This record gives sequence, structure tokens and C-alpha cells, in this order.
Amino acid sequence: MSFLNRKYADLVPYTPGEQVDDTEFIKLNTNESPFEPAPAVKQAAVAAAVNLNRYCDTSCQSVIKPLAKHFQVKENQIFLGNGSDEVLAYLFQAFTEDGVAFPDITYGFYQIYANYYQTPATIIPLNEDFSIDLTAYDDLTGAVIITNPNAPTGIFLATAELVAFAKRNPERLLIVDEAYVDFGAESMTQFVDQLPNLLVIGTFSKSRQMAGARLGYAVGNSELIADLNKLKFSTNPYNINSMTQAVAAAVLSEPVYVAEKIQTIIDNRTETKAALEKLGFEVTDSYGNFLFAKHPNISGEVLLNQLKARKIFVRWFNQPRTKDYLRISIGTTEQMAALMTACKDILKEVA
Ligand SMILES: *Cc1c(COP(=O)(O)O)cnc(C)c1O
Repeated sequence: MSFLNRKYADLVPYTPGEQVDDTEFIKLNTNESPFEPAPAVKQAAVAAAVNLNRYCDTSCQSVIKPLAKHFQVKENQIFLGNGSDEVLAYLFQAFTEDGVAFPDITYGFYQIYANYYQTPATIIPLNEDFSIDLTAYDDLTGAVIITNPNAPTGIFLATAELVAFAKRNPERLLIVDEAYVDFGAESMTQFVDQLPNLLVIGTFSKSRQMAGARLGYAVGNSELIADLNKLKFSTNPYNINSMTQAVAAAVLSEPVYVAEKIQTIIDNRTETKAALEKLGFEVTDSYGNFLFAKHPNISGEVLLNQLKARKIFVRWFNQPRTKDYLRISIGTTEQMAALMTACKDILKEVA
């Protein structure tokens, strides 16, 4: 028997990457940080436990204040969500009445939110080399959402092109999802005062050791932020729990630790890309904490399973244009060494 509203009958939910025990497996499948949070962040979680009997601060002052400082914007230009996935859900709910457009190869959740909120989605194919041509979005109506750097390709689109698009289309909302911007790309947050139709989305999951704590944000014009808060305070004003607020405030006070870990990821990305290319892989120019790679002698699916048999988890997207590739999160130096040993062994067997 089903009581489900019929409008959800055909909904196909998102499939998250598997969460496996990382003491037993090498987990390179969900683009988390391989590093523990800074000691001060762990201490903040313990300290916050004392007040779990009280409701959390719905204004999230302890996070919004330092985050506004970080981005050099006003506090009323920031919206916080329970992960950027929740921020995205609010964006689709709030701003896609006239439709939404995004690339064929990008973050899989956009199509799912379009289905969930029953908003018409226009899918624009990436160029052959996986680059984005924004002029292809000019003749449409409604919002545009671009992941930059894109996922799972890692390819970065110059911010000047996004700024030019927002200026050419002042009546349309441009959403830029910057989940991976901290790994060497340039952020659009510097343009929010100049562009009232720009919303920049980000997350503490990829570069700040907080995937499990769930915190994402939107930065933009204060009127857009007020609209998002209107929806949030009509559904769940307590979406950022007190433990998350405490660890987020702590992580923002540990910029040196965060920057060191980011640099390690960038260095490991550079080394792993070169090592994979030496083995004959074709690897995109990724600005994310992951690589997107394919090999002429082995299919993405076979390599996925061969790595899994060696207790290494990576991500495979079974779509026509991406099925030859694997997305490999960048881990610690030791994890990357183990990955390379496994790839060498596997390729030897298929040669
Ligand atoms: C990981 C990711 C998200 C979601 O991040 P959370 O903050 O953990 O919900 C959103 N967009 C992109 C492109 C991502 O890769």
C-alpha cells in the first residue's frame, strides 16, 4: 500500500558514494578530506555537547560573523544550510519557477532536485573536451547552475566568463556551485556586490574536514539571501545544529591547518596525475580534490571493480560520456602510493 503523493511516484533518489570503514578500505570515492579535523575543532565539538539540551541559535551568529569576514561581505549576504545539498534544495525551490539549465556532465543532484521540485530542466552538453560554452545558455529563460570547478571533470571555467554571462543576462539568476574552489581555483564571491543576480554556493565538506558535520552556504545579494531565509524559517529554522555551529566556528579559526591540508591535496593531485599519465591514463586538468581519468586498455567499470578487490574505493558514473572514466578522490600521500601500486598491478594483468 502506498500513501505517497502521486507527484513523487517517478522520483529516482540520489545514490551517494558508499561509506565504508576507512580503517579497512582506502576511501577515494566521495571527495571528503582524508584528514581529521584540527584538534581545536574536535575540542569544540566536545565543549558544545554541554548545551545539547538547548535549541541552537537560529541566526548562526558564531558562524556567519567569521564567514562574512572571510568572504569580505555583509552578514546579511550569507545563508547557511545543512550541507550545500540543502542550500541547493532551497535554491531550486525558491528560484527555478522559470526553469533551470545546467550541463550534461555535472553534479548529479541538480537533475534530482529539478525532478523533485518539478521544474523544467534544460541540459546543455559540455564541449567535446568537457569545457563549458556559456553562450549556449544565452537563449534560454530561468536560472543557470554551473559547478566551478566542474564535477566530476575538475575543469575550471574562468570567472571572467561567468561574470560576463551574469552581465549579459541581468534578469536571470546565475548559481555557481564552488564545492571545490579552495583547491586552487578562483572564487566568484568577490563579485556578489557587483552582480545582484549571482549566488555562490559552497561547502565545508571538501576542504575543511567537515563532511559529516553538514554545513553549506550561499553568498549573494541580501535580497536573494532574505528570500532563502523566508523559506528556511517556514520549514526548519534549526537546520544548523549547535554541534555543527561550534565546529564550523572552530574550523574558521584554524585557517593555517586548513590551508596546509589543502596544499597537501594539491601536491598529491599534481603527483598522482603525473604518475597516472606515465601509466598511459588520460587525465583531465582537475582543479578539484579529485582526478578524472580513463585508460585505453581497461574500462572504467572493470578498473573500478579491480580496485575494489584491492580494497580501494573510487567513483564510477555509468553515463554514456563518463563511463570510461573513474573519479578518484585525492587522499593522503600513502593512500595515493597504494593506488598507484594497485593500478600498475591491474594494468600488468590486462596487458
Ligand atoms: C559535494 C558536493 C556538494 C554537496 O556538498 P555537501 O555540502 O556535503 O552537501 C554540492 N555540490 C557539489 C558540486 C559537490 O561536489
